[in-house]
Amino acid sequence: MQYNDFCGERVSRLGFGCMRFPMLDNGEIDEAQVREMVRIAMESGVNYFDTAWPYLEGKSELVIGRCLKEYPRSSWFIADKFPGHQLQSSFDPAAVFEKQLEKCQVGYFDFYLLHNVYEGSIGAYEDPRWGIIDYLAEQKRNGRIRHLGFSSHALPGTLERIADKYADVLEFCQIQLNYLDWTLQDARTKYNMLTERNIPVVVMEPVRGGKLADLDAQTVTQMKAMRPEDSPAAWSFRWLRELDGVKVILSGMSSVDQMQDNVKTFSDDGVLSNEEKLFIEAKAEELKDAVPCTACAYCRPGCPMQLDIPMLIAQYNDAKFRSNNICITAFMESLPEDKLPGACIGCGACARICPQKIDIPDVMSKFAELYKTMPSWAAVCREREEAEKRLG
Ligand code: SF4
Ligand code: SF4
Repeated sequence: MQYNDFCGERVSRLGFGCMRFPMLDNGEIDEAQVREMVRIAMESGVNYFDTAWPYLEGKSELVIGRCLKEYPRSSWFIADKFPGHQLQSSFDPAAVFEKQLEKCQVGYFDFYLLHNVYEGSIGAYEDPRWGIIDYLAEQKRNGRIRHLGFSSHALPGTLERIADKYADVLEFCQIQLNYLDWTLQDARTKYNMLTERNIPVVVMEPVRGGKLADLDAQTVTQMKAMRPEDSPAAWSFRWLRELDGVKVILSGMSSVDQMQDNVKTFSDDGVLSNEEKLFIEAKAEELKDAVPCTACAYCRPGCPMQLDIPMLIAQYNDAKFRSNNICITAFMESLPEDKLPGACIGCGACARICPQKIDIPDVMSKFAELYKTMPSWAAVCREREEAEKRLG
């Protein structure tokens, strides 16, 4: 396993992001599989685990707490986050923090972040009524937080303002960074600004919610021809590893197979050749047409129509490229009418919270129009039968 000096700690370059645990059919976390993933991680030298209050409806903290408790406290680092971007009108920061310690079954957090500090949440973080930053700075002085930082989806200018204003309080920053967002979301500017100030960077969404790990068959074939041992996800990690300011790369792994693949990638120090870098940079240009949803699901709880927005956007991205795909048609027809994109009432609640600044009502409207033009499952089946008859 590769390691970095991160805030004076010896931290594995691969971190286990706990937002996308494997799930059972009943909607619960597959805790047995998570436990096995943690075992592989620990035995392979991964020692950084990143959770947050809202992940998996609050269950991520509970599950990772139970799994890590089986190992000596000094053998792992846990990162948790204060949910200032999702606060109700009245709350007590101490109650949230104490509850998090209890859920994770720890007496202190190694790393603790202000969660998703951006244009829409900075007001809550700075609101003197709550005193969030003062409270957390006090917990750091008390030793209940060893390192305090922040995660952010803010625009570069806002990020810079926060980094400068709280330079004596916040030690590190977690941003979305991958070879697509380097230019698409101007992550390059954010990275350069942070590293110029010697602020260590933790990377989230290194494969963009799985998108960069699930490329089209032709691209995967080309990648395999160049690097037979590497998955598409490994390409993303190798690209990121060349950035010196990046200290930890979080991967939101959802299976034992993904954990094993990632551990393999981080057990050597191979990087991409110039030719390989040019190849994925060209791929990034092609991918920019897609709606840049990372499936973080921040938008889902606030939708008055209870639409599964990230799932619909994933279907839309697929449908745009392959509108005659029978799997998309079959899936969409399995949804009730009031869960289709046409049920969106355009209230905009989702767009206000989306860290990727996606105009979700517009996407829903476009998908509803596209869906009307897509052939029905019955029509596709008829067409297939006729084709088979023609072939004899
Ligand atoms: S705009 Fe549409 S998708 Fe977004 S919250 Fe409102 S109803 Fe839901
Ligand atoms: S639309 Fe935005 S908030 Fe919703 S899942 Fe996608 S990235 Fe997250």
